[in-house]
Amino acid sequence: MRRISIFGATGSVGDQTVELIERAGGPRAFHTVALTGGRNISRLAEQARALRAEIAVCADPADLPALRDALAGTATETAAGPQAIAEAADRPADWTMSAIVGAAGLVPSLRALSHGATLALANKESLVTAGPLLMATAAAHGTRILPVDSEHSAIFQALTGEDIASVERIILTASGGALRDWPLSALAAATVKEALAHPNWAMGQRITIDSASMFNKALEVIETREYFGIAPDRIEVIVHPESIIHSMVGFSDGAIMAHLGAPDMRHPIGYALNWPQRAALPVARLDLAQMATLTFRAPDLARYPALRLAREVMAIHGLAGAAFNAAKEIALDRFLDGAIGFMDMAAVVEETLNRLSSETSLGKDAETLEDVLAMDHLARTRAAEAAVILRKSG
Ligand code: NDP
Repeated sequence: MRRISIFGATGSVGDQTVELIERAGGPRAFHTVALTGGRNISRLAEQARALRAEIAVCADPADLPALRDALAGTATETAAGPQAIAEAADRPADWTMSAIVGAAGLVPSLRALSHGATLALANKESLVTAGPLLMATAAAHGTRILPVDSEHSAIFQALTGEDIASVERIILTASGGALRDWPLSALAAATVKEALAHPNWAMGQRITIDSASMFNKALEVIETREYFGIAPDRIEVIVHPESIIHSMVGFSDGAIMAHLGAPDMRHPIGYALNWPQRAALPVARLDLAQMATLTFRAPDLARYPALRLAREVMAIHGLAGAAFNAAKEIALDRFLDGAIGFMDMAAVVEETLNRLSSETSLGKDAETLEDVLAMDHLARTRAAEAAVILRKSG
């Protein structure tokens, strides 16, 4: 029986992974090793009961008594804290879903790979902060990373049987997010609620805001470069409001392979779960005649400064991805708690990168996890300072 673990099981991607596993037979079809969650203890306990997990781990030790109570009478062990989450990744598994949000997903991703698990990677921040380290760990342990981000799953599928050397360009599609049709001058005043009203995808709160600012697409551009090893100038972004084409690969003979489907994360999650086979999935089938039109437009860099910043980060490379992601996480926290405005998020990230460029060598390659974590920590401090200055000056 296949042994599986899910990190971030209680989130949007994690919960849909649990749903697909239950549909495929649950504990009759899979042996669930570890499930981890953050604050949603009742959902974590429910999942652990349904899948008969070996261990359930929550992020905060203060929640451990509640988790223990909720799992009383079952054979599931319980634990809490970042160290316990990392240790859960040391338990042997054949397939591990990495769906914690943010840089907190990096350590379990690396640990799962180093124990030989195939890693289904939703946590794009792992590749952005430590792409070379992650890819090298997979290579050293003969394991595979399967992309779960819908765009990267689409590219992965379009590349099946192809020679990467014949790829001329990769075209990432972007919905443009909740505010894509707002006048540019109104964006500065956009609220959290408005930025959360995504037109097509139902996702976690943080990625939905990142979608409106296109920080999500900026992370994905960097993720594309790290995962597929393609030069930054061959990676394009196009706004495609319908979110039907999930991404495209252009080849040297002029052909473009596009991946189409309903915007439903259960497709890329299910693809990674069943790979290298395909299995029936409960996603809507497209009615192309009814859809009739698909539209595209070039992204406006004044509206989406995150895309310009991603190009700068790729040009620096080294530890710049770790700094970029950490600064983005702090800027997003400050936007969510009302301290800064929507467009200020990019200003905080840009100011952080500028300050770090003059005080450290951002372009230095990360040799160890500690290098990445040190840059992550420093960038968070600088971004918090930048947000305070911006707030005062605003
Ligand atoms: P959610 O916010 O819905 O879920 C995040 C998960 O991580 C939850 O289980 C949460 O626990 C847990 N978590 C949060 N903080 C911590 C922490 N510090 N330590 C341990 N666990 C923590 O996120 P999504 O499911 O939307 O996204 C997960 C990842 O997948 C992200 O990297 C995102 O960019 C990526 N992704 C998501 C897509 C989507 O459609 N949602 C699409 C493509 C990629 P709890 O909820 O219990 O607090």
